[in-house]
Amino acid sequence: MKFTRTSRASAKASRRLAAIGLGVTLAAVGSALPASAQTTGSTTPLRAGYTGSAEEASNNKAFFEAVLDSVARKQAANPGLQSVTVYYNASQAPSFRSQISSSTSIWNSSVSNVKLQATSGSADFSYYEGNDSRGSYASTNGHGSGYIFLDYAQNRQYDSVRVTAHETGHVLGLPDHYSGPCSELMSGGGPGTSCTNRYPNATERSRVNQLWANGLAKALDKLNKVR
Ligand SMILES: [Zn+2]
Repeated sequence: MKFTRTSRASAKASRRLAAIGLGVTLAAVGSALPASAQTTGSTTPLRAGYTGSAEEASNNKAFFEAVLDSVARKQAANPGLQSVTVYYNASQAPSFRSQISSSTSIWNSSVSNVKLQATSGSADFSYYEGNDSRGSYASTNGHGSGYIFLDYAQNRQYDSVRVTAHETGHVLGLPDHYSGPCSELMSGGGPGTSCTNRYPNATERSRVNQLWANGLAKALDKLNKVR
């Protein structure tokens, strides 16, 4: 799906991008991301991360599986754990501290089978920030753990908490659905920059609950068979 935004924002972004220059943009990303993350595709259109591509869909799936596996390993090591907790480290995204905190509250009040929790130590996934022509996205570092990248320009164009909650929705297993209405969180940039809904709808909430009830059981089962 084509990226949609207001022409004024578009012109501003173009000027800004022209001023920054691609080389500097990539260099800035390079310093913020794990080395292996820099090799993922760079041929998607400007700010595609919030409005979609086939590559995004497979990245999102791989990311969810990485997080699921990470949580399952912990669960297997501590069978007494009652609730499923996904830990995140936000130390590499200091500008988005309040958005990440809001997104965490939104998700924790919306679903019951999985909880998000901040940690300064080793985490199931991490948040990063910077400039990237691909926009914001969820991906894996290629070594079994996931990260969410938050793009500065995109977070100025769109409601920043919505962007953060949307990307976090990928951690919890939801795919993109850009043709959906603003009332869906996973419609992302589809409904345009005027959409400020930050909450998953009932269908999205029940899908996450289901994924973490059934998906985690399956991931645990797989781990146990390998042993
Ligand atoms: Zn997305």
